[in-house]
Amino acid sequence: MGKSSKDKRDAYYRLAKEQGWRARSAFKLLQLDEEFNLFEGVTRVVDLCAAPGSWSQVLSRILIQGQRVGRKAWEDKRYKELLRLREAGQDGDKAASELEPPTEAKPRKNVKIVAIDLQPMSPLEGITCLKADITHPTTIPLLLKALDPDYDSSSSSTEASHPVDLVLSDGAPDVTGLHDLDIYVQSQLLWAALNLALCVLKPGGTFVAKIFRGKDVDLLYAQLKIVFEGVTVAKPRSSRASSVEAFIVCTNFRPPKGFKASLDNPLGAGRKLEHPLGDAQIPRTQPSRTLREDGIVELELGSESEEEGEDIRWIAPFLACGDLSAYDADASHKLPEGHVSLDPVQPPTAPPYRRALEERKKMGGAYGKTKLGDVLP
Ligand code: SAM
Repeated sequence: MGKSSKDKRDAYYRLAKEQGWRARSAFKLLQLDEEFNLFEGVTRVVDLCAAPGSWSQVLSRILIQGQRVGRKAWEDKRYKELLRLREAGQDGDKAASELEPPTEAKPRKNVKIVAIDLQPMSPLEGITCLKADITHPTTIPLLLKALDPDYDSSSSSTEASHPVDLVLSDGAPDVTGLHDLDIYVQSQLLWAALNLALCVLKPGGTFVAKIFRGKDVDLLYAQLKIVFEGVTVAKPRSSRASSVEAFIVCTNFRPPKGFKASLDNPLGAGRKLEHPLGDAQIPRTQPSRTLREDGIVELELGSESEEEGEDIRWIAPFLACGDLSAYDADASHKLPEGHVSLDPVQPPTAPPYRRALEERKKMGGAYGKTKLGDVLP
């Protein structure tokens, strides 16, 4: 398949090249930000599983270069304020028109961004890149040292002395196609990211991570709800609807009293957090059901039930984000007149498949001398 057909099939792939992003994933973070205003007041960020680096580029453009963002979040806030004031019988239009629009953004001071990936990542100005495995315990001292050069790596502390505002994780394993295995490996990456986040986040901080929505994801939501005030599952429009991928956006980190993040005994399959006031305190939401005249059952999330002993799961609210007028990631789009297909902005520095490609080229390409079952030397 030629480059331009991929441009047509995937509008975000084409736009990423046109706008200079290293990967189409940049749009996922931008669309999440439109909904959650992720970068307000943020100066210290950890970007886990960051290669080839499009999320780090977003961070760099917004925090270091000071590009303007947040228009959509401001418009939503203005609209909500208008409705609130009108309902209260006040002149909503006047008050909402006085809400300050987002100011022309400026480069922020004292920005610290650390990006980590198993793969090497081409440098980005102002970003500290570490090549490390986020599931390995030795990564935490590396991260703490990168966040604070005065950190004493011989100390046993796993807590950041200058904690961070935002931890992002877009971790994905090499997909095998074995659905359950892929979901399992992805969940291990997610727990590793969460454990790192618990060590470095400041109270009030935000954690955003990619999830694959498998059947045991509710345990994760319930655990997250103990340490974060807001837990929402979000699906940006640039993430294909056909994929199980979504993002968990956790806001206002508020560790229970006495909680200590521990990498010796990390959260995950082996260690589960108990709610300090008992599990009954975890807000449980069950859908209310209404049978319509046409026989369709409407489910509405949001009713709170605190009846003890009820065997109901906590369902994280789900939010589709990104403008409805934004490109559909699953559709094929007409290419603009005179479209010229561009090369990717930053091809992978050391792709694991490079040797296979070289060998295939030597053998005369995909339809050359190789036969099914040939083993590469
Ligand atoms: N957010 C990135 C961007 O915008 O360019 C894209 C991330 S890509 C979807 C997933 C990344 O997860 C890959 O680069 C992969 O190397 C990384 N990854 C997978 N397992 C990892 C691990 N155990 N430790 C660190 N990185 C890992």
